[in-house]
Amino acid sequence: VGVVTNLYCGTCQDCKDGLQNVCDNRYIIGTTMKAGSYNGAMADYVIAPAVKIMPLPDSVSFDECALVEPLSISLRATKHAGDIKGKNVAVFGAGPIGLMGVMCMKSFGAKRIVAIDIVEKRLKMALQCGATDAINSNDDVLGITRKMTDGVGLDVVFDAAGVPATVNTGIEIARNGGTLLLVGMASPKMEIEYKHAVVKELRLQSSYIYTSEMREGLQMIIDGKLDVA
Ligand SMILES: [Zn+2]
Repeated sequence: VGVVTNLYCGTCQDCKDGLQNVCDNRYIIGTTMKAGSYNGAMADYVIAPAVKIMPLPDSVSFDECALVEPLSISLRATKHAGDIKGKNVAVFGAGPIGLMGVMCMKSFGAKRIVAIDIVEKRLKMALQCGATDAINSNDDVLGITRKMTDGVGLDVVFDAAGVPATVNTGIEIARNGGTLLLVGMASPKMEIEYKHAVVKELRLQSSYIYTSEMREGLQMIIDGKLDVA
Protein backbone atom coordinates (compact mmCIF):
# COMPACT_ATOMS: atom_id res chain seq x y z
CA VAL A 1 0.00 0.00 0.00
CA GLY A 2 0.87 3.66 -0.14
CA VAL A 3 0.17 6.06 2.70
CA VAL A 4 -1.04 9.67 2.60
CA THR A 5 1.46 11.28 4.95
CA ASN A 6 -0.45 14.42 6.00
CA LEU A 7 -2.39 13.56 9.15
CA TYR A 8 -4.51 16.73 9.35
CA CYS A 9 -7.09 17.22 12.09
CA GLY A 10 -10.15 17.57 9.86
CA THR A 11 -11.97 19.84 12.29
CA CYS A 12 -10.16 23.22 12.24
CA GLN A 13 -11.29 26.07 9.98
CA ASP A 14 -8.47 25.45 7.48
CA CYS A 15 -9.42 21.78 7.17
CA LYS A 16 -13.10 22.68 6.78
CA ASP A 17 -12.14 25.12 4.03
CA GLY A 18 -10.25 22.46 2.09
CA LEU A 19 -6.82 23.67 3.19
CA GLN A 20 -5.75 20.49 4.97
CA ASN A 21 -2.23 21.19 3.72
CA VAL A 22 -1.86 24.10 6.15
CA CYS A 23 -3.79 22.64 9.10
CA ASP A 24 -1.98 23.84 12.23
CA ASN A 25 -2.80 20.60 14.05
CA ARG A 26 -1.36 18.31 11.42
CA TYR A 27 1.18 15.59 11.97
CA ILE A 28 3.26 14.47 9.03
CA ILE A 29 4.69 10.98 9.03
CA GLY A 30 8.45 11.21 9.51
CA THR A 31 8.39 14.93 10.25
CA THR A 32 8.21 17.26 13.23
CA MET A 33 5.45 19.84 12.89
CA LYS A 34 3.92 22.41 15.25
CA ALA A 35 1.62 19.73 16.67
CA GLY A 36 4.50 17.34 17.31
CA SER A 37 6.57 14.54 15.82
CA TYR A 38 5.44 11.37 14.10
CA ASN A 39 7.66 8.33 13.54
CA GLY A 40 9.07 7.99 10.05
CA ALA A 41 8.69 5.20 7.55
CA MET A 42 12.35 4.19 7.32
CA ALA A 43 11.37 1.11 9.28
CA ASP A 44 9.94 -2.34 8.62
CA TYR A 45 6.62 -1.31 10.14
CA VAL A 46 4.96 2.04 10.71
CA ILE A 47 1.53 2.73 12.16
CA ALA A 48 -0.75 4.90 10.04
CA PRO A 49 -4.49 5.63 10.33
CA ALA A 50 -6.51 3.30 8.09
CA VAL A 51 -8.11 6.23 6.23
CA LYS A 52 -4.65 7.25 4.99
CA ILE A 53 -4.01 3.96 3.22
CA MET A 54 -3.94 3.91 -0.58
CA PRO A 55 -4.20 0.36 -1.93
CA LEU A 56 -1.79 -0.20 -4.81
CA PRO A 57 -2.81 -2.11 -7.91
CA ASP A 58 -0.30 -4.67 -9.23
CA SER A 59 0.55 -2.30 -12.07
CA VAL A 60 2.17 0.21 -9.70
CA SER A 61 5.50 -0.69 -8.11
CA PHE A 62 6.70 0.43 -4.68
CA ASP A 63 9.37 2.49 -6.45
CA GLU A 64 6.70 4.38 -8.36
CA CYS A 65 4.57 4.73 -5.25
CA ALA A 66 7.54 6.20 -3.39
CA LEU A 67 7.38 9.14 -5.83
CA VAL A 68 3.71 9.89 -5.22
CA GLU A 69 4.40 12.28 -2.33
CA PRO A 70 6.82 14.56 -4.24
CA LEU A 71 4.57 14.18 -7.29
CA SER A 72 1.64 15.50 -5.24
CA ILE A 73 3.58 18.70 -4.54
CA SER A 74 4.31 19.25 -8.23
CA LEU A 75 0.73 18.39 -9.13
CA ARG A 76 -0.82 20.85 -6.68
CA ALA A 77 1.46 23.63 -7.90
CA THR A 78 0.64 22.90 -11.54
CA LYS A 79 -3.09 22.88 -10.77
CA HIS A 80 -2.69 26.34 -9.23
CA ALA A 81 -1.64 27.61 -12.67
CA GLY A 82 -5.11 26.89 -14.06
CA ASP A 83 -5.59 25.84 -17.67
CA ILE A 84 -2.13 25.59 -19.22
CA LYS A 85 -3.14 23.83 -22.40
CA GLY A 86 -1.12 25.27 -25.27
CA LYS A 87 0.78 27.61 -22.96
CA ASN A 88 4.51 28.20 -22.71
CA VAL A 89 5.92 27.32 -19.32
CA ALA A 90 9.26 27.10 -17.56
CA VAL A 91 10.47 25.11 -14.59
CA PHE A 92 13.38 26.25 -12.44
CA GLY A 93 15.23 23.41 -10.75
CA ALA A 94 15.28 19.96 -12.33
CA GLY A 95 15.30 17.99 -9.08
CA PRO A 96 12.48 15.60 -8.15
CA ILE A 97 9.83 18.33 -7.68
CA GLY A 98 10.84 20.20 -10.82
CA LEU A 99 11.07 17.06 -12.96
CA MET A 100 7.64 15.94 -11.87
CA GLY A 101 6.45 19.50 -12.45
CA VAL A 102 7.63 19.05 -16.04
CA MET A 103 5.65 15.79 -16.24
CA CYS A 104 2.50 17.39 -14.83
CA MET A 105 2.75 20.32 -17.23
CA LYS A 106 3.20 17.94 -20.13
CA SER A 107 0.23 15.91 -18.96
CA PHE A 108 -1.89 19.08 -18.75
CA GLY A 109 -1.03 20.00 -22.33
CA ALA A 110 1.55 22.78 -22.04
CA LYS A 111 3.08 23.58 -25.43
CA ARG A 112 6.63 24.55 -24.68
CA ILE A 113 8.15 23.35 -21.41
CA VAL A 114 11.49 24.96 -20.67
CA ALA A 115 13.63 23.37 -17.96
CA ILE A 116 16.23 25.60 -16.33
CA ASP A 117 18.98 24.29 -14.09
CA ILE A 118 22.69 24.74 -13.51
CA VAL A 119 23.49 21.00 -13.70
CA GLU A 120 23.65 19.59 -17.25
CA LYS A 121 22.86 16.05 -16.10
CA ARG A 122 19.62 17.26 -14.57
CA LEU A 123 18.70 19.13 -17.72
CA LYS A 124 19.12 15.90 -19.66
CA MET A 125 16.75 14.22 -17.22
CA ALA A 126 14.27 17.05 -17.72
CA LEU A 127 14.28 16.45 -21.47
CA GLN A 128 13.63 12.76 -20.81
CA CYS A 129 10.74 13.75 -18.55
CA GLY A 130 9.05 15.76 -21.28
CA ALA A 131 10.69 19.19 -21.32
CA THR A 132 10.86 20.59 -24.85
CA ASP A 133 13.85 22.81 -24.11
CA ALA A 134 16.62 22.96 -21.55
CA ILE A 135 18.60 26.04 -20.58
CA ASN A 136 21.61 26.22 -18.30
CA SER A 137 21.12 28.99 -15.74
CA ASN A 138 24.56 30.33 -16.65
CA ASP A 139 23.28 31.15 -20.13
CA ASP A 140 21.17 34.15 -21.09
CA VAL A 141 17.89 32.75 -19.73
CA LEU A 142 15.92 35.95 -20.38
CA GLY A 143 17.21 36.39 -23.93
CA ILE A 144 16.69 32.74 -24.90
CA THR A 145 13.17 32.48 -23.47
CA ARG A 146 12.13 35.79 -25.06
CA LYS A 147 13.32 34.51 -28.42
CA MET A 148 11.40 31.26 -27.93
CA THR A 149 8.17 33.12 -27.21
CA ASP A 150 8.39 35.78 -29.94
CA GLY A 151 9.33 38.38 -27.36
CA VAL A 152 6.29 37.76 -25.16
CA GLY A 153 7.70 35.75 -22.25
CA LEU A 154 6.45 32.66 -20.49
CA ASP A 155 2.87 32.19 -19.37
CA VAL A 156 3.79 30.21 -16.29
CA VAL A 157 7.05 29.85 -14.36
CA PHE A 158 7.29 27.03 -11.82
CA ASP A 159 10.04 27.70 -9.27
CA ALA A 160 11.09 24.47 -7.63
CA ALA A 161 14.22 26.07 -6.18
CA GLY A 162 13.15 29.21 -4.34
CA VAL A 163 16.38 31.18 -4.20
CA PRO A 164 16.77 34.87 -5.10
CA ALA A 165 18.23 34.07 -8.54
CA THR A 166 15.33 31.85 -9.59
CA VAL A 167 12.54 34.01 -8.17
CA ASN A 168 13.99 37.15 -9.73
CA THR A 169 14.79 35.56 -13.07
CA GLY A 170 11.29 34.09 -12.93
CA ILE A 171 9.83 37.58 -12.55
CA GLU A 172 11.83 38.68 -15.61
CA ILE A 173 11.07 35.75 -17.92
CA ALA A 174 7.34 35.58 -17.12
CA ARG A 175 5.14 37.41 -19.58
CA ASN A 176 3.06 40.40 -18.54
CA GLY A 177 0.14 39.03 -16.57
CA GLY A 178 1.89 35.68 -16.21
CA THR A 179 1.99 33.38 -13.22
CA LEU A 180 4.93 32.59 -10.98
CA LEU A 181 4.43 29.39 -9.00
CA LEU A 182 6.40 29.59 -5.77
CA VAL A 183 7.09 26.05 -4.65
CA GLY A 184 10.73 25.72 -3.60
CA MET A 185 11.80 27.55 -0.47
CA ALA A 186 15.53 27.02 -0.24
CA SER A 187 15.89 30.66 0.84
CA PRO A 188 13.50 31.49 3.69
CA LYS A 189 14.10 35.23 3.22
CA MET A 190 15.08 37.15 0.11
CA GLU A 191 14.98 40.42 -1.77
CA ILE A 192 12.83 40.28 -4.86
CA GLU A 193 12.16 42.51 -7.87
CA TYR A 194 8.89 43.49 -6.27
CA LYS A 195 8.18 46.49 -8.49
CA HIS A 196 8.83 44.52 -11.67
CA ALA A 197 6.37 41.89 -10.47
CA VAL A 198 3.70 44.52 -9.74
CA VAL A 199 4.05 46.53 -12.94
CA LYS A 200 3.89 43.31 -14.98
CA GLU A 201 0.77 42.37 -13.03
CA LEU A 202 2.22 38.95 -12.29
CA ARG A 203 0.29 36.46 -10.26
CA LEU A 204 2.57 35.24 -7.48
CA GLN A 205 1.03 31.96 -6.43
CA SER A 206 2.56 29.88 -3.69
CA SER A 207 1.84 26.19 -3.38
CA TYR A 208 2.45 24.09 -0.31
CA ILE A 209 2.49 20.29 -0.14
CA TYR A 210 -0.88 18.78 -1.08
CA THR A 211 -4.47 18.21 -0.07
CA SER A 212 -6.05 15.64 -2.38
CA GLU A 213 -3.09 15.42 -4.75
CA MET A 214 -1.44 12.28 -3.38
CA ARG A 215 -4.44 10.19 -4.35
CA GLU A 216 -4.85 12.12 -7.62
CA GLY A 217 -1.17 11.66 -8.47
CA LEU A 218 -1.35 7.93 -7.80
CA GLN A 219 -4.44 7.74 -10.00
CA MET A 220 -2.59 9.54 -12.80
CA ILE A 221 0.17 6.92 -12.58
CA ILE A 222 -2.41 4.11 -12.57
CA ASP A 223 -4.15 5.66 -15.60
CA GLY A 224 -0.85 5.95 -17.45
CA LYS A 225 -1.04 9.75 -17.63
CA LEU A 226 2.38 10.02 -16.00
CA ASP A 227 5.37 7.74 -16.22
CA VAL A 228 7.50 8.28 -13.13
CA ALA A 229 9.34 4.97 -13.56
ZN1 LIG B 1 -7.09 20.95 10.69
